[in-house]
Amino acid sequence: MSDEKKPSNKASSPATDLVHKGRNPNQYAGFINPPVYRGSTVLFPTLELLKSRAQPYTYGRRGTPTTKSLEDAICNLEGGAITILTSSGLQAITTALLAFVEHGDHILIPDSVYAPTRTFCDITMARLGITTSYYDPTLNADSLEKLITSKTKIILTESPGSQTFEMQDIPQISKLAHKHDIWVLMDNTWATPLYFKAIEHGVDVSIQAATKYIVGHADALLGTITGNQRAANQLNSIKENLGVCPGTEETFLALRGLRTMAVRLEHHHRSGVEIANWLSEHECVARVIHPALESHPGHDIWKRDFCGASGLFAITLKPTSQEALAAMVDHLELFGMGYSWGGFESLILPFDPRPFRSVTTWNEPGPALRLHIGLENLNDLKSDLEAGFERLKSVGNETT
Ligand SMILES: *Cc1c(COP(=O)(O)O)cnc(C)c1O
Repeated sequence: MSDEKKPSNKASSPATDLVHKGRNPNQYAGFINPPVYRGSTVLFPTLELLKSRAQPYTYGRRGTPTTKSLEDAICNLEGGAITILTSSGLQAITTALLAFVEHGDHILIPDSVYAPTRTFCDITMARLGITTSYYDPTLNADSLEKLITSKTKIILTESPGSQTFEMQDIPQISKLAHKHDIWVLMDNTWATPLYFKAIEHGVDVSIQAATKYIVGHADALLGTITGNQRAANQLNSIKENLGVCPGTEETFLALRGLRTMAVRLEHHHRSGVEIANWLSEHECVARVIHPALESHPGHDIWKRDFCGASGLFAITLKPTSQEALAAMVDHLELFGMGYSWGGFESLILPFDPRPFRSVTTWNEPGPALRLHIGLENLNDLKSDLEAGFERLKSVGNETT
């Protein structure tokens, strides 16, 4: 990380690093931010340099000073040895998985995994002769060990799980995996490296859908893969093999988002917990699923390993009709309905995890909603939801 501004041996806090790492104003005429380098060809001044490739940049796909800035900043934040940028969060996951397997291998994937990761395993990995077993994300190490075979190469983790928010005991899973010489990968998008230090807790490869909180403004797609020293060669090789590289503009937008991530996350955390607590008391709500609430079955793990919560959680409603649910969500003024999350705005998404689960069950009688609490005023958000609940109740009463 030769580019760091004012190198010093003093450890700085993550919030300070987010502001300062990965940029060096005196390399770009004193301007605070690195410029956007657009380019494919990089010129070599001599035959000797062309043959040795001994200059920092050799071809646009392999990196530019702009991508290097973001890589350095993320790598520092994750506490890793290497960071690779990809064009989406999903591409970060698929690239990282491909880095460690060959024909005949076996991988373990949590049942609560991000659904498109599951599709990749079921279609592309299967076609390459790599078999997948899904495991209950809350299994203890002894039970998980029973699923390991001599061909198992990867245990993927994602904590909390997509939509259903199961917490995983990452230190225990990592210990088990390393005993069997298995790689531990983690989709760490929910907490970001700010609220969960995946590599410090034993993970070999920490993956971010930077599309979410790093970009933070719902205006770009990007992924990051950060590995420890042990994983560096394989990750670098798969990146070069597959030609994985991010868009130029997207890289700049991620750098820009990263600078304010600490303050945004603090707000998402506070507002998310407040709305979750408020919903816990609400007559229309059956269950609130938020790892930072004591009612969550994985709360102890969250408290032990994480230093914050982001703004994403789920609730289930008391049983009601589809018409009543539509009356609620169709007319919200602040909560938008759509995929993705992590931006400045609040979102709501009805979901049913059952089509994407094979070894766990989901028995909630009422509809489930995923909420992303954005940066709006809390009272405004509560009023918007409350008006929605009033519509739900009035239609519910008509249809029963
Ligand atoms: C959104 C998401 C992804 C995929 O990110 P994209 O940039 O949309 O491809 C991966 N994992 C999790 C947990 C996500 O929520």
